[in-house]
Amino acid sequence: MSTPSGKDSSPIQLLDLRRREVRDLLARWGEPRYRADQLWRWLYRDLGADFGAMVNLPRALRARLAEEASCQPLELVEEVVSRDRRTRKCLFRLVDGETLETVLMLYEQRCTVCISAQIGCAIGCPFCATGQSGFVRDLTAGEIVAQVLHYARWLADPQANGPGAVPIQRPARMSNVVVMGMGEPLANYQATWQSLETLNDPEGFALGARHMTLSTAGLVPGIERMSREAMQIGLAVSLHAPTDRMRSKLVPLNRRYPLAQLMAACRGYVQRTGRRVTFEYALLQGINDSDQQAECLARLLRRLLCHVNLIPVNRVDGSPYQPSSRLRTQGFLRVLRDAGISATVRLRRGLDIEAGCGQLRQRKALGDDQLSNDQ
Ligand code: SAH
Ligand code: SF4
Repeated sequence: MSTPSGKDSSPIQLLDLRRREVRDLLARWGEPRYRADQLWRWLYRDLGADFGAMVNLPRALRARLAEEASCQPLELVEEVVSRDRRTRKCLFRLVDGETLETVLMLYEQRCTVCISAQIGCAIGCPFCATGQSGFVRDLTAGEIVAQVLHYARWLADPQANGPGAVPIQRPARMSNVVVMGMGEPLANYQATWQSLETLNDPEGFALGARHMTLSTAGLVPGIERMSREAMQIGLAVSLHAPTDRMRSKLVPLNRRYPLAQLMAACRGYVQRTGRRVTFEYALLQGINDSDQQAECLARLLRRLLCHVNLIPVNRVDGSPYQPSSRLRTQGFLRVLRDAGISATVRLRRGLDIEAGCGQLRQRKALGDDQLSNDQ
């Protein structure tokens, strides 16, 4: 929509633009090319969120940016911190009022941000909070990048500790990005890939491709496409079952892309990139956690360069699934290792803050509904 002055009434979302598009925009504004490079560095190297502070840009340009553009597509609604203060989770509101979640996990030497690629998800895995809420919309590249920038700013600011927290040791820089939050990233391929390329840009955020991983429920054409990309990022596949029958129940996308096709795509990824695939396997008590299923999984993955991450499932409201016991988890792990499969049990992080994808958003939505019912 245009205003009488001919300007678009909604601000230009700078984080949605590639570097060359920032150049094009500033060229249209009559600025020399190096100004675009300065702006890019402010956004992604200096993590600037306020045009006024971009002091090496001319005052008139800063004023025009403030009037016509935005580099903050996310508004923080709530942040929760785990008791050990090593897991943090933000709920953000987007310009259209939708909400999304981002999780930060701090370790001794590194820290990982887990970002979302969609609001909701169309795939509908029955144990997943996001799957239960249905699909709302794709995120833009800027909304994806902004999740990383938010926590990168927090890390870079030694004063920032968030709600009620005592300072703790933490790395000053983001070391890993995983696209494992809400939604199916390969179903929003273009925006997801653009955001990862932006984060990878050596003139800006400069995060190496080896430090980025994308998790998919098994969208085969997307896996094939990312295998052919110049930027080779890590691939994690949510397997959760070793047979088509069981997998079609747990990951309904399996009906469209059954295991034979999925495994062929994974082999293609390994061949082209030389990188191993990580398989995520959420252990659901009495459903997919028997020794026989572990043996079947080991057969499926034989001779494939891969690693299996066993995840004790997080309990989700309204879902009948329970996590496997520690003993059963260790038993499952032993069968895989005895068969020569590299496997670990993923540490459970942030359980007290519902760090499983979609859980905080789901609780907020329920709370809001109850509020409106009471009125
Ligand atoms: N849609 C993509 C990425 C987001 S989900 C995918 O499915 O891979 C990220 C991971 O969290 C997936 O492995 C998913 O299966 C897992 N997950 C979802 N709900 C979970 C729960 N309640 N407990 C444990 N893991 C869960
Ligand atoms: Fe979607 Fe992944 Fe959740 Fe399945 S596990 S519903 S694919 S977000």
